[in-house]
Amino acid sequence: MGQKFICMDIGGSKILGAVVDENNEILHRVKKKTKAELGTEAVDSRIKEVIEELIAESKIDREDIRAIGAGAPGVIDTDKGTVLYAPNIQWKDHPLGRIIEEAYKVPFVVGNDVNVGVLGEWKYGAARGYSHALGIFVGTGIGGGIIIDNKLFTGSKFTGAEVGHMTLNTEGPLCNCGQRGCLEAYASKIAITREIKAGLHMGVESSLAEAVENKEVIKSGALKKAINEGDKLALSALDRAVYYLAAGAGNLINIFNPEVLVLGGGVMEALEEDIIPLFNKYITRFAWPTMLSQVKIKPSELKDDAIIYGARALINERLGF
Ligand SMILES: [Zn+2]
Repeated sequence: MGQKFICMDIGGSKILGAVVDENNEILHRVKKKTKAELGTEAVDSRIKEVIEELIAESKIDREDIRAIGAGAPGVIDTDKGTVLYAPNIQWKDHPLGRIIEEAYKVPFVVGNDVNVGVLGEWKYGAARGYSHALGIFVGTGIGGGIIIDNKLFTGSKFTGAEVGHMTLNTEGPLCNCGQRGCLEAYASKIAITREIKAGLHMGVESSLAEAVENKEVIKSGALKKAINEGDKLALSALDRAVYYLAAGAGNLINIFNPEVLVLGGGVMEALEEDIIPLFNKYITRFAWPTMLSQVKIKPSELKDDAIIYGARALINERLGF
């Protein structure tokens, strides 16, 4: 009984799905590997399997499903429900909206995962009640989202708000996007891992040698453990990353003059207590004092569920449910 929504977080490695009720409570969750290497159609089938399992296991009535919403990586035309480009899942001009709507006969809305995550924080999480909000999510890479005057800003063709790829140093380290010196190349988990490896190479003593050996990305838990133990290399790598994170955030604060900045993502979730004090110290170096006095800096409230709730928020924004 009552309205139900299926909300999804479609990622390059896993697909999370949840049944959300009319009170925005999550009733049931399903998680499956994406298996992107099997190709486009296989991924479409996996998405449908997640939806089918959600319906079967939560025992909801199909008739009660009002809409399906999702966040997915890449460039997404939210008006058409088409994934224009998502290299992680090998999608190109992929009509995901049409496929899901034909299968389930309910409206489907989809947006860029990180943008959708910020929308979730704005509607249901740390940024709720504010008209001007920024979100920066630090994980393997860095993504973000911008709410201007109660509206998600996506640029003219859904590719805007790539906050992780602002250039902080034109001669800086190479970024995965091909440019140099992006925020992501300094403050992401990839960047932190690279810094730890460089330190080890220089002979700095650290307990992290094994944790980074043959890995592009260190596990957040291993980093947290080393920091708790006072590992000097881990502390200095984090310090450097947060310094640059503050530089990037300072640029955004000075441009957008937001009321709230939400810091989220896997690294934040694991290391919030270590990052927030450093961030608060360094941000004064980059944000103008007047702007800084007007912005609240808050950790994500929705954590791992930011994109699930963001999909719920997108359904609400787009369809009014
Ligand atoms: Zn970049």
